[in-house]
Amino acid sequence: MAPDATKVVPRLSLEEKAALLSGDGDWHTRALPHVGLAAVELADGPNGLRVETGVDMVWVPSTCFPTGSALGATWDRDIVRRVAVALGEEAVAMGVGLLLGPGINMKRTPLCGRNFEYFAEDPVVAGTLGAAYVEGVQSTGVGACLKHFAANNQETDRTTVSVEADERTLRETYLAAFERVVHRAQPWAVMCSYNRIGGVHASQHHWLLTEVLRDEWGYDGLVVSDWDAVHDPVAAVRAGLDLAMPGTAGRSAAALVAAVRAGALDETDVDRAARRVVELVARACPDGSPRNSPVRDLGVSPGARLSDEQRALLRADEHHALAREAAAAAITLLRNEGGVLPLDLVSEQTIAVIGGYARVPRIQGGGSAGVDPLQVDVPLEALRAIAGERVRYAQGYEIAETDYYTERRFDPDPALAARLADEAIALAGSSDVVVAFVGVPLASESEASDRATLALPYDQVALLERLGALGRPLVVVLAAGSAVTMDGWHDATVAILLTWLGGQGAGKAVADALFGRTNPSGRLAETFPLRLADTPAYLNFPGEAGQVRYGEGVFIGYRWYDARDQRVRYPFGHGLSYTWFDYDDLAVALVDPETGGLRVEVTVTNAGPVAGAEVVQLYIGDPGSAVPRPVRELRGFEKVSLAPGESARVGFDLAARDVAYFGDGAWRVRGGSLVVEVGASSRDLRARATVDVPDLCLPVHEAGGPHGATGPSTRST
Ligand code: BGC
Repeated sequence: MAPDATKVVPRLSLEEKAALLSGDGDWHTRALPHVGLAAVELADGPNGLRVETGVDMVWVPSTCFPTGSALGATWDRDIVRRVAVALGEEAVAMGVGLLLGPGINMKRTPLCGRNFEYFAEDPVVAGTLGAAYVEGVQSTGVGACLKHFAANNQETDRTTVSVEADERTLRETYLAAFERVVHRAQPWAVMCSYNRIGGVHASQHHWLLTEVLRDEWGYDGLVVSDWDAVHDPVAAVRAGLDLAMPGTAGRSAAALVAAVRAGALDETDVDRAARRVVELVARACPDGSPRNSPVRDLGVSPGARLSDEQRALLRADEHHALAREAAAAAITLLRNEGGVLPLDLVSEQTIAVIGGYARVPRIQGGGSAGVDPLQVDVPLEALRAIAGERVRYAQGYEIAETDYYTERRFDPDPALAARLADEAIALAGSSDVVVAFVGVPLASESEASDRATLALPYDQVALLERLGALGRPLVVVLAAGSAVTMDGWHDATVAILLTWLGGQGAGKAVADALFGRTNPSGRLAETFPLRLADTPAYLNFPGEAGQVRYGEGVFIGYRWYDARDQRVRYPFGHGLSYTWFDYDDLAVALVDPETGGLRVEVTVTNAGPVAGAEVVQLYIGDPGSAVPRPVRELRGFEKVSLAPGESARVGFDLAARDVAYFGDGAWRVRGGSLVVEVGASSRDLRARATVDVPDLCLPVHEAGGPHGATGPSTRST
């Protein structure tokens, strides 16, 4: 029987309650068997399960799904939910009760080393997909843990840096996605971040963890610390933290007990936190005993592959197919001059595949999100399976990492680099089409450090320049977890296909997309700037003297570029297709003058020759505002798959809260005229209308959370 917190907690001594408030080792909550409390196992991570084999830092293989930014680029709640269900199923097979994901922090700067884990530079995308993820995981009886709360937007000095942002910026930008997920999906746990906000560590931040998260948003789950993010256990419990991870060998329990005895900490705070830990245990272990780990019970040893029986328990084949499908949904066609893609399936064209990443693909990032994949589809093999002998290969550049299991130090060898490049140029020069696989090295996209540059490695750029000069059609397949700059090579390409860090199925997914077996439907959930110096946080990153000032305020991502009318390489929301879509009959209505409820509808038609999916994006602006506001902000989106000639009437229902800004301690709508735009990116707007809305003030406790639902849609052919 599941433990009942209201009965268990009163039976515990102060020492026992305090002991519950920190973990047992790295990955478990503390068991108290005499009151029927089992230990819950916690595990990373956002794009694949990361469970130790019993040997430190050696992981049991699991399905490596596309990372957060790839899932973000799908703009597809359904696929994100299905991936999350699969993660939950693997957690069940491994005996894990709480999955440490999703990560939904905003991409404030493309330099953030963990951007690959995060969905978007926009809270509506991150919050909507984050909610789908949480619902998916939790539908399997496993908890999701929303992280990192809040404003963890850089890795430089991540455990000490203090984010200096005004309340409006925090609420509209850095808290908004969390609010949306908490409101819609009630995650079992929220993980506080490492950083400080306004000088106070997130783990000790009463306003953040109690006033906003619980009192305003009505959150009733567990707040867990990021690993070693608690500096003062007493201040943390007082602020609203429940569980400090990992275990502290009794140190924080002793400190809590001493503080209560000394009158420095109210025992009711300890009771509250203990109750939440017990409630987590009750959810994760509903029959009162620890979860079984069927996969590990069959034996796992470091470095060994899993048996067929273990793979079956993990549903490895089914999940691999899903990983491939999700990778395909994320692939973003940035450029396709003259429609060179898809490549011709039946011609005699010879194809030079250049680049080590075609053989050792970049499928994930490093750090706590890195998993040991069950299998990896190799792009080169997938291309050969489709086009056979026409595909010829040259490595082109040195690969800075050999595989995902070893951390080999990379020592560049100039003579080898020159030879590899020369071989690639010779091959490309004698081929009809060149497909170059390039990307950001693993070492640059990892936890605990930020990227130093947005450019690709020098040798890859130099190779692309030489390939471009050959005059053959140059298709670039780009692997990156966040924006890159494209100086020196962009204009020499005819097509650019962005795979993100697409997980273990990306190799076949990219081959399918190149040959038109699937139609790319990913869209950028972050702007690709022309230059690093153009980016919103450029002058305020990574901060100095222990502080980082969010001087750009609410103007991050496209909000910044649009407000400054600045050219970008590729705008937020952008992504091409092998077909095209028309937008007609935009209708906007104020359906409830009292509450400011809006209904927006538009008809989208697949006007091209093949089936495809469009991401219909709804932006709203308030040009008459006296408060500085972005020109437009995404307020809803819907991905629709349409056969050639098929139409859909896509509808959005918005509440006042969805178009409000934060000012003077409340959410506010300025009475007047709002501009409503729908389109295919923040810079490709296809229809525009205005709507008059009433003046409204929504107190924070009554605002009811963001809504932004997609309303009923209909389709016709
Ligand atoms: C990361 C978290 C992760 C935790 C456990 C921390 O360093 O920031 O995202 O869940 O470690 O591995």
